[in-house]
Amino acid sequence: MDAPTFSIIAPVYNEAETLPALYPRVKEVMDSTGEEWELILVDDGSTDGSADMIRELARQDPRVRPVIFARNFGHQIAVTAGLDYSRGQAVVIIDADLQDPPEVILEMIEKWRQGYEVVYGVRTDREGESWFKLWTAALFYRLIYRITDVDIPLDTGDFRLMDRKVVDVLNQMRERHRFLRGMSAWVGFRQTGVHYRRASRYAGETKYPLRKMLKFASDAITGFSYLPLQLATYLGFLSAGLSILAIPVVVYLRASGSQAFFGQATTLIAVLFLGGVQLISLGILGEYIGRLYDQTKGRPLYILREAPQEAESRRSQVGSDG
Ligand code: UDP
Ligand code: MG
Repeated sequence: MDAPTFSIIAPVYNEAETLPALYPRVKEVMDSTGEEWELILVDDGSTDGSADMIRELARQDPRVRPVIFARNFGHQIAVTAGLDYSRGQAVVIIDADLQDPPEVILEMIEKWRQGYEVVYGVRTDREGESWFKLWTAALFYRLIYRITDVDIPLDTGDFRLMDRKVVDVLNQMRERHRFLRGMSAWVGFRQTGVHYRRASRYAGETKYPLRKMLKFASDAITGFSYLPLQLATYLGFLSAGLSILAIPVVVYLRASGSQAFFGQATTLIAVLFLGGVQLISLGILGEYIGRLYDQTKGRPLYILREAPQEAESRRSQVGSDG
C-alpha cells in the first residue's frame, strides 16, 4: 500500500461508546478530500473492549490501522505512537471523543496547501465542560505562555495538522515526559491557527481526572521552563535580604527595652517557615531529578501488543529504534 496523503491519529482510552461515531465522521470528511488517507487508532490500554472494536473497524476498512498498547501509557504517549506509525504527508491529531470536530480538518488542509507546516486548532468556545475545567485550563495555558521560552499559542490543544517534515523531527525527540503542543511549537516552521468551537464529549466522561491533569501540567512546566528551579534562588535571596535588614531593627528594639521578638513563638514560626520553603524547593528539585532519572533509564516510551502489519515489516527492515 502506498503512503497516503493524510494520516489521522486518534488516541483511544475506554471510548467504546464514541468509536462507532468517530469512524463514520472521519471517513465522510476524509473521503471528501478525494485523497488517500489512513486513520490510526491507538488503543491506550482500554478495558472496555475498545481494542476489539478497533480491530473490527480495521477488518472492515484497511485504511483503519490499529496500534494496541500493552497497558495504559497516557494520552501524550498514545499520540506519540500514532506519530511513529503515521505515513501521511500531513498528519492530524484528533481526540477520539469528537470534541474536536473532524470537519475542521478541511480548513486545516486548506492552510497546509497554502504552505503552513503546523496548523493548530484554537478553541474559541467550549461546550459542556465544567467551570472548574474551563477555569483551570485557561489558567494553565496562560501560565505556560508566561513562564516558558517557547511561544505556545493560547487555548490550543493537541488538535492540529502537521507536515511530514515536522512529524519527522518530533519522532526524533524521544523525551519521556511529553508535552506535544509545546514540542510542536518548539520545532519552528511556519505555523498558523484555525478557530473552532470545542464540542462537548460525544459520550462517556473525561479520561483526564485531576491527577492526570496535574501530571500533565507538571510535565509541561518541567519540560519547557527552569523557572521553578530558579524560584529557590529568588526565595533564598529574598529571605537572606530580609534577615539582614531585620538585624538592626531587632538590635534597636532590644536596646530601647521593647518586648518584641522575645519568646519561642517567634523562633518557631521563622524555623517552620524556612523549613517549609526548603522542603518545597527540594520537592521541585525532585520533580526535575525524577524526570532526569526516567530519561536515563532509556526504557521504550510504550509497549505494543499489536502494531499495524505493514508498519511492522517496514520497521524491521529499517531496524528498530526503540
Ligand atoms: N486518552 C488516552 N489515554 C489516557 C487518557 C485519555 O488515550 O490515559 C485519550 C481519550 O480517549 C481521548 C483523548 O485522550 O481521545 C482526550 O481525553 P479526554 O477527552 O478524556 O480529555 P478532555 O477532553 O476531557 O481533556
Ligand atoms: Mg475530551
